[in-house]
Amino acid sequence: MGKRLVIDEEECQGCESCVELCPEVFEFDEKSEKAVVKNPEADDDCVQEAIDSCPVECIRWEEE
Ligand code: SF4
Repeated sequence: MGKRLVIDEEECQGCESCVELCPEVFEFDEKSEKAVVKNPEADDDCVQEAIDSCPVECIRWEEE
C-alpha cells in the first residue's frame, strides 16, 4: 500500500508556509488561495517539515 499526501482544503489557511518550505511538492493555487499538492508521491524531508509547520495541521499522509 502506498501513501498519498493530501491537504484538507477546508482547513487550509493559505499561509504558504508549506509552499515556501517545499516548493517541489506544494503549490499555491491563486484562485482558491489555498495550497495544493502537486507531487503527492514526493517523500522529501521537506514534506515532514511542512507538515510540522502547518498552523492548522491540515497536511497529512493517507493510506491508499
Ligand atoms: Fe495551507 Fe497548511 Fe500549507 Fe499553510 S502550511 S498553506 S495552512 S496547507
